[in-house]
Amino acid sequence: MGSDDRRRAELAANLQQVRERISRACAAAGRRSDSVTLTAVTKTYPASDVLLLAGLGVTDVGENKDQDASVKATEVRAAGVRLRWHFVGQLQRNKAKSVCAYADVVESVDSLRLVAALDRAAAGTRDEPLEVLVQVSLDGDPGRGGVAGDDLWRVSDAAASSDGLRLGGLMAVAPLGEDPDRAFERLAELAGRLVTTHPGATTVSAGMSGDLEAAIRHGATHVRIGTSLLGMRNSLR
Ligand SMILES: *Cc1c(COP(=O)(O)O)cnc(C)c1O
Repeated sequence: MGSDDRRRAELAANLQQVRERISRACAAAGRRSDSVTLTAVTKTYPASDVLLLAGLGVTDVGENKDQDASVKATEVRAAGVRLRWHFVGQLQRNKAKSVCAYADVVESVDSLRLVAALDRAAAGTRDEPLEVLVQVSLDGDPGRGGVAGDDLWRVSDAAASSDGLRLGGLMAVAPLGEDPDRAFERLAELAGRLVTTHPGATTVSAGMSGDLEAAIRHGATHVRIGTSLLGMRNSLR
């Protein structure tokens, strides 16, 4: 077996395990397994892995650095492969235009200024509105990204009323050191409130390799899985 075949076999085995975890968690929560979309977080891994995952049926990929993501997305598109690209990292406003060129969803929107920058960038570069998720800070620590309190509703309302954007819903990362069930329970409450004013904003992106079961128990529609699919990342990157 060549190294590409070995990597394909490894990714296939990991993907099967992750899909089984998702199915079991859905069954336990009384949900259909097709109610949860798997986003493969391919950050730090090469475009060749993205292409292998696409060949194995993955439809959605996540990246957290614009520089890496734009190169990878270009490479994947050049190979004739169309995927949904989710931007999941902290985003500087001066990168909004670059991200708009390849991302289908920006999941990490956490300020009015970023909403305005993405709206301007999307209006200039795209035919369709850019889907955005507002990132919720579940521990109230803005240093780790996300908005808390009334800012959540201000940022959501601004995104929903921007012509260049479509408000898809919410994204969150469980705080370190807290029971993810408690954190995702709060997220579910917020998501429930959001749809009362924005009925189309039904996406709840939550759950990573260590806590996807808890996220699915609390209504996640998208799980973002890196390590369990692709392996441990080099901590220097
Ligand atoms: C890296 C990352 C993930 C994936 O985390 P794993 O623990 O490797 O599954 C999910 N969401 C965000 C925002 C990330 O940065």
